[in-house]
Amino acid sequence: MTDCFWSWLVRQSNRKSPLGDLARDAKSERGARCCKPHFTSPEAAESHLRLHHHACGGALRAMANAWRAYSRVANRERATHL
Ligand SMILES: [Zn+2]
Repeated sequence: MTDCFWSWLVRQSNRKSPLGDLARDAKSERGARCCKPHFTSPEAAESHLRLHHHACGGALRAMANAWRAYSRVANRERATHL
């Protein structure tokens, strides 16, 4: 079964990249409480970051890239389980 975006994201937290930064924020207790319910689609995640975290362009780009990376993994996993 494919992970949800959130589970996938927190597993990226050892990366030294904007994705890793995003994952470390998400993994924190505050991130899990505040952001987890909103990270259900790229659009919902982006508007949450904008409205509640006053996210800068870099963070929003990192989030968009994270969704792209996640959908690549999710598609690959679907393909191998067919
Ligand atoms: Zn949040």
